[in-house]
Amino acid sequence: MSSSSNVARPALGARDANAPVATVRPTSKLPVMSKLPKPQFKRPLAEDARGSAAKKTKIEAPSVKSGTGIPKGTVGVRKAMAPGNTTTVRKQPVRKPPEASTAPKKRPAWDLKGRLSDMEKMMEMRISTNNHLEHNLSENNQRVQMVEMLNERLKGTVAQKDHMLSENCQTINELQRKIRDLEDEAASVKRRHQCVTEDLESRNSTLEIKKKSLEGELEVSNQECIGLKCKIAQMTSARVGMETELSSIRGILEQAQQTCKHQEGVINGLNNTIVKHNSTIQELESNLQEAEAVRRKLHNTVQELKGNIRVFCRVRPLLPSEKDTCAEISHLHFNGIDGKTLEMDKVDENCPGQRKLSGGKYSFTFDQVFNPSSSQMRVFEEISQMVQSALDGYNVCIFAYGQTGSGKTYTMEGPVESNEETMGMIPRAVAQIFKCTQDLKANGWKYTMEASFLEIYNETIRDLLVNGEDKLKHDIKADAQVTNLTLVEVKSEKQVAKLLEKASCNRSVAATNCNEHSSRSHSVFRLKLTGSNDLTSEECEGTLNLVDLAGSERLTSSGSSGERLRETKNINKSLSNLGNVIMSLGNKESHIPYRNSKLTYLLQNSLGGNSKTLMFVNISPKEENFGESLCSLRFATKVNQCNIGTAQKKVK
Ligand code: ADP
Ligand code: MG
Repeated sequence: MSSSSNVARPALGARDANAPVATVRPTSKLPVMSKLPKPQFKRPLAEDARGSAAKKTKIEAPSVKSGTGIPKGTVGVRKAMAPGNTTTVRKQPVRKPPEASTAPKKRPAWDLKGRLSDMEKMMEMRISTNNHLEHNLSENNQRVQMVEMLNERLKGTVAQKDHMLSENCQTINELQRKIRDLEDEAASVKRRHQCVTEDLESRNSTLEIKKKSLEGELEVSNQECIGLKCKIAQMTSARVGMETELSSIRGILEQAQQTCKHQEGVINGLNNTIVKHNSTIQELESNLQEAEAVRRKLHNTVQELKGNIRVFCRVRPLLPSEKDTCAEISHLHFNGIDGKTLEMDKVDENCPGQRKLSGGKYSFTFDQVFNPSSSQMRVFEEISQMVQSALDGYNVCIFAYGQTGSGKTYTMEGPVESNEETMGMIPRAVAQIFKCTQDLKANGWKYTMEASFLEIYNETIRDLLVNGEDKLKHDIKADAQVTNLTLVEVKSEKQVAKLLEKASCNRSVAATNCNEHSSRSHSVFRLKLTGSNDLTSEECEGTLNLVDLAGSERLTSSGSSGERLRETKNINKSLSNLGNVIMSLGNKESHIPYRNSKLTYLLQNSLGGNSKTLMFVNISPKEENFGESLCSLRFATKVNQCNIGTAQKKVK
C-alpha cells in the first residue's frame, strides 16, 4: 500500500553523534529488536576524577549473535525497542563537580595571604570540575559509538524491511490489480445479474398475468366441466334409453325391410301404372287446352247473356262527419232479395228531410245494387269476370258515374291510405291480372302489359304519368290512341301502385261547394294486355279502361261561376254526350256521336260493338243529395236499358 511507504522511520543515520536521545518509532511490521548491547560504564568517583579522567573505561563490545543481533543484557534498549513503545537511549546523568559549600568571605585588601589561599582553593575546585567533565565526555563518546553501532544495525534491518516492504507493495499492487479485475468482473456479473433479474421479473409479471387468466379459464373450464359432467350423465342415461329404443327400432327396421321388399314389388307395379297415367295426363292436358278455349267461348257467352253494358249501383255509407246531421239513411231502401233493386222515398226536392211525399217511391233495378255495407272485395267479385274478359282479348270499360262526393274515386282507386281491405277496383284488377297471367303461363300464355293514365280536364287531355308539368299536346288518333302519352310496361303490382300515386298527385282537383276536393276532370286508367300462346300459336289483345268520371252535379247545386262554371259546363257536356253515345248504340243508330266529346272519342273502341262496358252509379246516402241521386239513377237506368251489341274478341 502506498501508505506503507510513508512509514516513519527513525532517522538514525542523520542523528548528531552528540545527541543524547534517540527516538525510534517501530511499526508493527518491523521485527522486534529484542536485544541490544548495553554499554558498561565504570563511573569515576568525583574524588578521583582528575586522576582517572585520562583512563579509558573499558567497554565490553557485545558479541552480536546471528539471528537476534542484540547481545543479552541490553535490557534497557530491548525494552525500549518493544513494539508500540518509543525507544529512548537514556543519557546518563552528568555528574556535577563538587562545589564549595560556602562562599569565602570577602577578604580585606590587605589580607593577601588569605586571598591567596582562597584562590588556591578555587583553583583546586576548578580542576576537579574539569576532571569530572572530561570523564563525562568520555562516557558520552562511548555512548555515541554504541548508538552509531546500533544505528548501523538498524539500517541493515531497515533495508531488509524496505525490501520486504517493496515486495509487500508489489504483492499489494498485484492484489489490488486482482481486486480491480475482480471488482470489474463483479460489476459486469452484477450488471448481467441485474439484466437477468429484470428479465426474469418482467417474465415473472407476464407469467403472473398469464397465470391469472389461466386461473380464470381454469375456473370457467371447471364450471364447464361440471356442466359437461352433468350433461354426460344425462346423455348416458339418454343413451341407455336410446339404445333400448334402437334395439326396438332395429326390430321394427327388420320388419320394415321385409315390408320394403314387399313394397318394391308394389312400386314396380305402380311405376307401370304411372307410365300409363302419364300418357293419360298428356292426353288430358291437350284436352285442357281445348277446354280453356271452350271456357273462353262460354265465358263470353255468359257475358253476352248478361248484356254487354251493365250497370251497378253503389251507395256509400254515411261518413262519421255526416252522422251528426243525419244518424241513418232513411230514404233509401235495399229490399230486393236478389240485391238488384233500390227504392227511394219520394222527397220534396226543394226541402229534403223535411217532407216525404206520402206513399210515393222511386224504384230502380240494376244488374247489382251494393248497399253501404258492401265491401270493396264484394264489389270486385262482381267485376272480376270483366277483368278476365280483358285478358281473353276484349276491350273492357268500367266507369264510375255520380255526383262529387258520392264515392267514385273511392270505388275506383280506394281511399288515400288504402290497405288490403279498402283498396279499389284498379289495384284489385291489376292484382287479378298478374295472378291470372301467372296461372295462364301453364297453358302457354305470355302477357305484356302497358299502362297509361290520363285526365280530360276542360276537354284537354293531360298525361298523369309525366314527371313534372305536362307541356306536350295530346291528340286522339282515329284508332283511339293518344299522341305523346306515357306508356309504362308494368311488371308488378307495386309498380302499378306507384303509378297510381303519381297520377293522383298530378290530377287536377279544385274546391267547389259540393266537395272541397271535388274532382273536376275525368281520369282514365288504361291497361293494354297483349298475350301470345306458344303452344297454340294464339295471340290476343285486350284493353281494360277504368274511368273515374268527373262529378255529375248540376250547375245550380255547385254554385259555380267563372272558370269553375266553364269546368262544370264541359263536364256536363261530356257526361251527357256519354249518355247520347250509349243511347245511339242501344238504338243501333248509324251515326254514333263519339267525336262530340274527348271522353267518348277516346273510349270509342271500348264502347259499343267490340267491348264490354260496366257503369257504377255512385249514390250519396245524404238526403240533401236526393235530387242529384235521382238524376244519377235515372241516367243509369237509361244506360242499363241499352243493348249495345255483341262484343268481339280481338284475335290477331
Ligand atoms: P267522389 O270521387 O265521387 O267525389 P269520393 O270517392 O272522393 O267521392 O268519396 C267521398 C268520401 O266518401 C271520401 O271521404 C271517401 O273516402 C268516402 N267514401 C266513399 N265511398 C265509401 C265507401 N264505400 N265506404 C267508406 N267511405 C267511402
Ligand atoms: Mg273523385
